Amino acid sequence: MLDYHMHTIFSADGEMTMEEACQQAVIVGLKEIAITDHMDIDLPDNPLAFQIKDMNQYLINLEKVKDQFKGRLNVKAGIEIGLQDWTLGKASALVADYPFDFVIASVHLVQGEDPYYRVYFNTRDRIKSYTDYYNQILELFQYYDDFNVLGHLDYLRRYTPFEYDPADHKIGKELIEAILNMLVQKGKGLELNTAGFRHPSRQPHPHPDILKWFRELGGEIVTVGSDAHSVQYVGYENKIALECLKYAGFDYMTSFAEMKPVFIKI
Ligand SMILES: [Zn+2]
Ligand SMILES: [Zn+2]
Repeated sequence: MLDYHMHTIFSADGEMTMEEACQQAVIVGLKEIAITDHMDIDLPDNPLAFQIKDMNQYLINLEKVKDQFKGRLNVKAGIEIGLQDWTLGKASALVADYPFDFVIASVHLVQGEDPYYRVYFNTRDRIKSYTDYYNQILELFQYYDDFNVLGHLDYLRRYTPFEYDPADHKIGKELIEAILNMLVQKGKGLELNTAGFRHPSRQPHPHPDILKWFRELGGEIVTVGSDAHSVQYVGYENKIALECLKYAGFDYMTSFAEMKPVFIKI
């Protein structure tokens, strides 16, 4: 059992230390985790809010917990980079400069607006709220390759003020398929993010059907992550995630070592 997405106090919104995250992973029976703190380079309204302030210290701490938990838990050095069109070069440089095992690339902002702040939905109806987000992903990843998996594909669903409709995942299907095809062509993966189970839709990101489309289009790399920001969510809904993977036609999940995929039978 793996958890490949979690945040510690190196993220502005993280509530656990690396050591606490590792301890909890052992308690809930995980064999391997990737710590993936936030690196959203220059958020417009709060330039330092979601950035690791001291990258060297981050990697020193990761080495420390790797050693401390050796034999009980594999700890991978990860990061979640939030992309914007004007930070792609900086994001690439960051990945080149530090020895990460695993990089999630996520889109949190659509033309500077984060769906986390409800103002995003003031100017968009249900359909446009999805299609604008998917178009932003397509635009950004046209020019970006320094990552392993795309994070939480339908992120905005977490924060939508519109009542959840079980057909929501079919909105913008052509755009979603274009994103999935692009990942396949780049040899990159998709994340199954279980944080969606904590929100009203009670569905992971992305919806299991989207995971299935990815498999049908030739997708091979999938990681499972809780997006935990506190200890109670480490390994969250991990077993249901495995069922989603099987439903989608995967008989393995993916771990990473030095940015290279390692396939694990499930
Ligand atoms: Zn994220
Ligand atoms: Zn995250």
